[in-house]
Amino acid sequence: MITLNETKLDNKRVLVRVDFNVPLTEENGRFKVADDTRIRSTLPTLRRLLDDGASIVLMTHLGRPKSGPEDRFSLQHIVPHLSEMLGREVAFADDCVGENAFAASAALKPGQVLLLENLRFHAEEQQGDKAFAEKLSRHGDVYLNDAFGTAHRAHASTAVIAGFFAPDQRGFGLLMDAEIKNADKVLADPKRPLVAILGGAKVSGKIMIIERLLDVADTIIIGGGMSYTFAKAAGGEVGKSLVEEDRLDTARKVAELAREKGVELLLPQDSVAADAFDNEANVQVCNSQEIPDGWMGLDIGPAARKAYAEAIENAKTILWNGPMGVFELDNFQAGTKAVATAVAKSTEHGAFSLVGGGDSVAAVNRFGFAERVSYVSTGGGAMLEYFEGKTLPGIAAVKG
Ligand code: AMP
Repeated sequence: MITLNETKLDNKRVLVRVDFNVPLTEENGRFKVADDTRIRSTLPTLRRLLDDGASIVLMTHLGRPKSGPEDRFSLQHIVPHLSEMLGREVAFADDCVGENAFAASAALKPGQVLLLENLRFHAEEQQGDKAFAEKLSRHGDVYLNDAFGTAHRAHASTAVIAGFFAPDQRGFGLLMDAEIKNADKVLADPKRPLVAILGGAKVSGKIMIIERLLDVADTIIIGGGMSYTFAKAAGGEVGKSLVEEDRLDTARKVAELAREKGVELLLPQDSVAADAFDNEANVQVCNSQEIPDGWMGLDIGPAARKAYAEAIENAKTILWNGPMGVFELDNFQAGTKAVATAVAKSTEHGAFSLVGGGDSVAAVNRFGFAERVSYVSTGGGAMLEYFEGKTLPGIAAVKG
């Protein structure tokens, strides 16, 4: 397998699966890149390849086109932005497996970059079709997967295609490498104590990661909507807070397993409760197990903030997935902000901190903490599945 840090791919045509599934905005009938985080995160790989004298064929999906080409999902819209970021012209092929595309990739010279049209304009991409993957493989001498965000999908360009390259002709890009190495710093041999912070709306979405973390973490901190399923399972009154009635047993089982395994499970002692799901609603701080009828917990309270900050500041390794409250509304963001502050402080004092999963990443960005944690994962679903212990097809196929 190719390790980009050790192998110089000069004079090679390198086919790179990237995740340029970026949000676009429309202005006067023209589409523009609204957030280029995903493009930016693959720049180290692309710059390294160009510096080494390779040529690059880029392939990605964009959005969810239903059947065939649709202008609003065309990758042509990102060409100007990508060219500017790379500081060189990027050529575009209007069908990823069209004759023009093959002619353009065959004619590439060292230092040139070609972007292929949206892979998902062909249904075969998501079907993991072998013949389609084989066609795509003709674009490169070497295949690199740098799309961690889609590594949990067994699609033609993310997994099946790897089989058409010999082990020494395929590998990961620098982003994928970093994602795997950083996740393994938490999972494989963490410095202790390892504190995992889990928040967000529902227990159901996080149960597998909680179960896995019960085997590796010293402390698990629970916040957000899912803490009310735990509070109710423990016999508490939670008013009209978000509760998954069909997960009460699961919550009880998690609490029991934590006791058995000696894992400290921290639930919020108190909550900021509101009488409506609204920034202008009336609020009161109450015990998380004594939320009055008609009120709902929308954030962790001041006592929980303090207790969580203490646990986080003592950690040597931190994993954070999911906000502590409805951080999108100003009046319910104090809990998430307090946790972000504690994670940043702990990192300053030498802890390794990894933030992953869509909403916690949005939260650290919103509060300006992205530069103050050790690593922000780019893969929401993929990161969750990696932490759940699942084999990600995009990683397994390249490793072979
Ligand atoms: P998830 O995608 O499961 O990580 O959930 C993130 C969402 O959970 C965010 O949009 C938050 O607004 C929401 N959330 C966090 N805390 C609560 C809460 N106490 N009640 C309802 N929704 C919440």
